[in-house]
Amino acid sequence: MDFDYDLFVIGAGSGGLAASKRAASYGARVAIAEGEDVGGTCVVRGCVPKKLLVYGSKFSHLYDDAVGYGWKAVKSKFSWPILITNVQKEVHRLSQIHTDLLAKANVELIPQRATLIDPHTVQVGDRQIKAAKILIAVGGEAIKPEIPGIGLSITSREMFLLPKQPKTLVVLGAGYISVEFSGIMQGLGTEVTHLVRGERPLRGFDQDIQDGVYEGMLNHGIKMVPNIELQELKRTKKGIKVIYTQAGELQKLTVDAVLCAIGRAPNVMDLGLEQAGVNLNTNGRFPAIAVDEWSRTNQPHIFAVGDCTDRVNLTPVAIAEGRAFADSEFGNQPRTISHENIASAVFSQPEAASVGLSQAQAESRYGADNVKVYRAKFRPMYHSFTGKPEKVMVKLVLEAHSEKVLGVHMVGDQAAEIIQGMAIAVKMGATKRDFDATIGIHPSTAEEFVTLR
Ligand code: NAP
Repeated sequence: MDFDYDLFVIGAGSGGLAASKRAASYGARVAIAEGEDVGGTCVVRGCVPKKLLVYGSKFSHLYDDAVGYGWKAVKSKFSWPILITNVQKEVHRLSQIHTDLLAKANVELIPQRATLIDPHTVQVGDRQIKAAKILIAVGGEAIKPEIPGIGLSITSREMFLLPKQPKTLVVLGAGYISVEFSGIMQGLGTEVTHLVRGERPLRGFDQDIQDGVYEGMLNHGIKMVPNIELQELKRTKKGIKVIYTQAGELQKLTVDAVLCAIGRAPNVMDLGLEQAGVNLNTNGRFPAIAVDEWSRTNQPHIFAVGDCTDRVNLTPVAIAEGRAFADSEFGNQPRTISHENIASAVFSQPEAASVGLSQAQAESRYGADNVKVYRAKFRPMYHSFTGKPEKVMVKLVLEAHSEKVLGVHMVGDQAAEIIQGMAIAVKMGATKRDFDATIGIHPSTAEEFVTLR
């Protein structure tokens, strides 16, 4: 068969961009199709704009904190349109950089949505393109619960584009996105009510992370409402009426906006997967593209990476999967990536980060008697003069006999920056003795990890 390209990539997000450039670097003829801005969720409507909003939201806390350090109290005024415009400008700048990098790498960008029409052919606009290999890297999209009036709510996609700052906001959900946006909006001056269907947000993280973030959010003035079930949203003259039950009792609350952050589903609809004979994995929370450790689907020349495969849904994982695919298929260096011990951070306020097993996961894998835990919770030195009840939590989870570190967990400022280094130690199989043999940096929060008793 005559092919137009050696590789056709569907989706120019983190995974697709990394894979296409790496494949082209080996001399492959590569095209990439994207129906929205180049950069995908992370650059355009996820990690990057979110982190910028987190930075923006922290100034209100800094102004408060400065008083104890002798600075005169300031009453500064925040402008939502300035922040949102600057964030959008930065997103477009970065998207353009990624577009330029594709051209430099000799990857042809086709700025349109692509669908599969048979195992070797994609339809893009009125063009039918044949490729020897196809990589699907189409990411995921936020979902909403099916209740009356849910159309009145928004998702994180729209949060970055709101023309006006809501004075009052309900956040629904219990994952990364929900806690991150609660912190952002509270810091920017919005009154936030966070509705959680369970006891705590961040289920799956170590219990001390769940508790630390929950307490911190309460201390920051976010109204946390656990054990709820959302029933209905209604438009009223005063805003959006949120009707929910808590412990069986009907509750009502009217706010300017409702953010739904209850999870993201792989973008597997309307992609032509059936025409191409690509199987889905339906064992998870959402149908996802089924792949093996090589990111190969049941069609030997069709691959998928990133959130559309619903393995570990994080940008650096999609990039690593994309590069491993390209090295294997075009670089003559077959390799897979490990999905074990991947560090991740939640940019909540307080921040949290983790690598490895939670205490509960370690106990269920090794048995409670074979797990040892070291933990400290303390007021960080920075808050000596702020009068705030902020706490830092650091925790090591060990295999009791060998004292091998199975998990490292932290809640507090700079948790993401600190845990990145810890991840190297965990990946290398460090023991508590290795941690203890490391001299701390004083005074710092990170030194607690090498002095835990
Ligand atoms: P998520 O992490 O999948 O969490 C959503 C949570 O919302 C669920 O785990 C569930 O928790 C709760 N939920 C589900 N259905 C609900 C319902 N009907 N009503 C109320 N609550 C409900 O989702 P996300 O926060 O939207 O994040 C999506 C993905 O983006 C994640 O896979 C994450 O990896 C990625 N992400 C990562 C970062 C980061 O690395 N910092 C930041 C943002 C997003 P319970 O079952 O406990 O109620």
